[in-house]
Amino acid sequence: SRIVLRREGTVEFYAPDPRAYGSIYSAPVFYNPAMEKNRTLSVLFLKAYGATGLTVCEPLSGTGVRGIRYAVETGAVGRLILNDISREAVELIKKNLEVNGVDAEVYNEDANVLLHRLRDKCDVVDIDPFGSPAPFLQAGFRALREEGVICVTATDTAVLVGRYPKKCLRRYGAVMFKTPFYIEAGLRNLTGYVARVAASEDYGFEPLFAYWEGHYFRLCARAVRGARDADSNFNFIGYVEYKKPSRKVVRRPGERSLGPLWVGPMGDPILVNKMAEYGPYGDFLQLLSEEYSVAAPWFFKVPEFALGGVSRGIEEALNALKKGGIYAVRTHMAPDGFKTEVSAGEVERVLRIV
Ligand code: SAM
Repeated sequence: SRIVLRREGTVEFYAPDPRAYGSIYSAPVFYNPAMEKNRTLSVLFLKAYGATGLTVCEPLSGTGVRGIRYAVETGAVGRLILNDISREAVELIKKNLEVNGVDAEVYNEDANVLLHRLRDKCDVVDIDPFGSPAPFLQAGFRALREEGVICVTATDTAVLVGRYPKKCLRRYGAVMFKTPFYIEAGLRNLTGYVARVAASEDYGFEPLFAYWEGHYFRLCARAVRGARDADSNFNFIGYVEYKKPSRKVVRRPGERSLGPLWVGPMGDPILVNKMAEYGPYGDFLQLLSEEYSVAAPWFFKVPEFALGGVSRGIEEALNALKKGGIYAVRTHMAPDGFKTEVSAGEVERVLRIV
């Protein structure tokens, strides 16, 4: 059969065999094995979040594997709501629930219709679409209770980082151009957009967990209803001015600025350390928690400070910075990148003399 039994985490589920269809996009139900890390980290996140009895809605479920893993592996789920616009997907979701002995409500609706019907009912809404999550965000916030968690995956990374500037302006209302830290700028563009939708729905917004992995961005954030909280989202919306090699946060857009971007904290280091304890991906999570503690909304790349065309290695550069009294950490977003709160000029000065 072209539907095969697979395993992720501690669950078994049926999914189309990618080899049988040539491409994951030609299969009757969408399942992407390359998103396993995304799902596993999301399981760890929900576990570390530490609540129980949560109403969790995954309005774009595909095979249902994500929601089923939440139910089986986190101990956090009280009520599970799965949905997909595809009939075939819904049939497969029901089968996969049965295989795992998991109870859920399963719908076959447009995600936005379902989310509006669930107004005020959900603790967690996980939006995992094809491409951009933008079309589902407003409804996603409406489905949340007074306090909740919104998770989004975005696979339109090229748009978010500004490789298609016009589309980026249309979809996200942001002006973006290429910089050495374009990946972080893209993640902060997404985060800023979600924060602005949160504000428009009267939710305060706090990123708990956000990262990049090659083909997608992922963001999980806490949302709390209240006009005052929602107003303060804008304390963390700003622009980053880039004048090679310097970067600066500015409040108003200018000729050489990117944004609007989220220029506040990208995650909660304590929560992410807790996720690391549950393993796997411990080293990755450890690195994220260090990154979250550096306030600068960008990273530098070692080759930006090359002398006479010769760049040092990342390890050597980090040692030199440390010797020069500058705190810097690696970033998961570039093997030759580092985050620090000091200016480019300061980095340059130290790397030149040490
Ligand atoms: N969350 C799944 C996982 O982790 O394996 C993958 C979901 S897949 C990326 C996106 C799914 O959204 C597809 O199964 C597609 O049929 C469904 N979909 C697309 N547009 C939709 C809409 N407007 N409402 C509901 N489902 C939709």
